[in-house]
Amino acid sequence: MELIIRGLSKTYPNGVQALKNVTLTIPSGMFGLLGPNGAGKSSLMRTLATLQDADSGSAQMGTLDVLNDKDGVRRQLGYLPQDFGVYPKVSALDLLTHFAELKGLNNKTERQEIVMGLLRQTNLFNVRFKALGGFSGGMRQRFGIAQALLGNPKLIIVDEPTAGLDPEERVRFHNLLADIGEEVVVILSTHIVSDVSDLCPNMAIINKGEVLLTGQPDELTHRLKDRIWAASVARHEIDDAKKKYPVISTRLMSGKTRIHVISQGSPGSMFEAVEPTLEDTYFAAIGGHLNAVNQGDAYSGVASATADAVVSN
Ligand code: ADP
Repeated sequence: MELIIRGLSKTYPNGVQALKNVTLTIPSGMFGLLGPNGAGKSSLMRTLATLQDADSGSAQMGTLDVLNDKDGVRRQLGYLPQDFGVYPKVSALDLLTHFAELKGLNNKTERQEIVMGLLRQTNLFNVRFKALGGFSGGMRQRFGIAQALLGNPKLIIVDEPTAGLDPEERVRFHNLLADIGEEVVVILSTHIVSDVSDLCPNMAIINKGEVLLTGQPDELTHRLKDRIWAASVARHEIDDAKKKYPVISTRLMSGKTRIHVISQGSPGSMFEAVEPTLEDTYFAAIGGHLNAVNQGDAYSGVASATADAVVSN
């Protein structure tokens, strides 16, 4: 089953247009919605989770009218919001049991079985009697997944679930997400490129409320083949380099700054060609080099003041 979103727009009362005519087809399996803070990811997630209304547009999953049939959606939805709060004094077992009751799992034996199964699946079985207030960030997020999986949802939405997790917890969390069935539509919103490259066979890049690119990570990355060039520059040379070249990212490496430039042909002798990564695609897209990503050969790079991003993960 796929989720088809058409022409979704949303302007908040303060005038911020958070979604601009968003059209997306989201197949089953993990789908990465990648974009910087403020891109509109949460606005889209909350709309699909029926927590807020769009101004216009539609979303359809099979026969389900996602924007209008709120009860229908809630029966099929698992949602881990960005600001998932827990009751700190309650144990994982008790709170998950409580959520299971709210989900309508009324049969006690069945409910216990499901709750225990989910606690095992999320590696929380051994700490099930522990108060949630004592959980690490990673444990709390795994608990968030456990509650999202209650009731066998067909649509699972996880909003920025890895922000703030340490590398080990992130890997654990990735493994947990990777085990969710392929028949389910799982939308993972994130600003962390590796969340998408590690997990998602399909993805979209969103910025300022607009979908910039959609496709398979490998294919989107391949479009930049032979067009990403890297050089190490001293810190005081960065501004100059940005004026001269279409810099898409700057990253500190061993105390030096490594810049990536997008260019058809070598931009200069100090540069070496590097294999593109999804990160290059992402920064090229949000830096305004969408033509380069989309049109390949037709592109000739032009430096632009908005064309850089600082890599910070
Ligand atoms: P993301 O999840 O990608 O960080 P959001 O959907 O949270 O993006 O935000 C998109 C834009 O909408 C931002 O400019 C944000 O400040 C604004 N925004 C989000 N929620 C509200 C709200 N309830 N009222 C007004 N503006 C909002």
